[in-house]
Amino acid sequence: MPRKSASTTLPIVKISRRGADRLKNGHVWVYQSDVSAHRVPPGALVTVQDERGRPLGTALYSSSSQIAIRMLSSHAITDLPGLVRERVRAAIDYREKLVHDSDAYRLVFSEADFLPGLIIDRYNDVLSLQILTQAMDAEPIRQAAITELNERLNPAAIAERVDPRVRELEQLSPRTSSLLQGEKSSTVFTMNGVKFHYDALAGQKTGAFLDQRENYAAAGKYAHGEALDVFCYEGGFALHLAQRCSQVTGVDSSRPALEIADKNAALNGREIEWMEANAFDLLRDYASAGHHYDCIVLDPPAFARSRKNVETALRGYKELNVRALKMLRPGGILVTCSCSYHVSEADFLQMLATASSDTHRPLRIIEKRGQSVDHPVLLTVPETSYLKCVIASATR
Ligand code: SAH
Repeated sequence: MPRKSASTTLPIVKISRRGADRLKNGHVWVYQSDVSAHRVPPGALVTVQDERGRPLGTALYSSSSQIAIRMLSSHAITDLPGLVRERVRAAIDYREKLVHDSDAYRLVFSEADFLPGLIIDRYNDVLSLQILTQAMDAEPIRQAAITELNERLNPAAIAERVDPRVRELEQLSPRTSSLLQGEKSSTVFTMNGVKFHYDALAGQKTGAFLDQRENYAAAGKYAHGEALDVFCYEGGFALHLAQRCSQVTGVDSSRPALEIADKNAALNGREIEWMEANAFDLLRDYASAGHHYDCIVLDPPAFARSRKNVETALRGYKELNVRALKMLRPGGILVTCSCSYHVSEADFLQMLATASSDTHRPLRIIEKRGQSVDHPVLLTVPETSYLKCVIASATR
């Protein structure tokens, strides 16, 4: 009797014509509304078929996410842990070719590395792993990723950062952030020659905003005089500005972030003033009190978490940018960012243009930038491109 091929033993998920068209255009997601799946286990590896039953490839299935299907390959896959190891290896190779100015960078960026739902960051000798989907949470998959990391990078420790909201959405059992391996949870990492403290079990995101690494260096190139870093977190921009500026002030609402920022300044032998404040209030007060700066950085948290919030988000960005422009001296440098995927670069530039004309402060764009190269943008998956960073010069 002929043996069944392994692919035919996978559960089958059928997708609508609309879903199939998305895949044809190079996207890897199919939404719940375009999927029919009967008794498919959460997180299963599945064979995807079109309405007529023609195979379209192999995917990871989520029983609870709006994104029901995340494609892995247009071929049959029999050894998922083996594939994960291979792709983690390829992701590490890609960074080794591209990143030269840092021992902290994103090693694996989910869909952009063909590992949907897996994020791994390197902070010198400590690695941080984040799992965002049912399929990636399975023990053999975790182990495959960890084995590859150990073989290639021999880290002192591997930590897991848990986003409780994501686990709840994916209907995964609760977990807490912890060390999966090793005992060292803190270290020091270096980017662009600037040193930072890192604690794998504290802080926001996976500990730092690695996606801004190249923008720190770019901002540092143009900055001069007195600088204000608004939404400074642990001082990423401020510490780079301090290499060129006569005086730097960093503002954030998070006291724990500012405490680390202060330690980072000491680590680099810099004097920076840190202020705990609501950025909106502070900018309003400073702008009306007539404070002026030669460089202002605006790097707020994501204002638009969904498409519905875009209008409100743009109003928030505009308010910040208007106030910053009022405080910028002629020849001053504005570094203004948005990490909201739902706010497009065109929307962001339009907002900035309105802020510029409303305040009668013409702006010349020096650079339009995005996320660092270790957060690759996969052209056919627009969601992988989210960070905007505009560096502009105020003319008068
Ligand atoms: N520029 C930072 C990253 C900023 S992330 C870097 O490169 O590392 C956004 C920061 O905004 C967080 O540190 C958060 O604590 C802070 N934040 C959020 N809301 C704020 C508010 N209303 N006023 C001031 N800071 C705020």
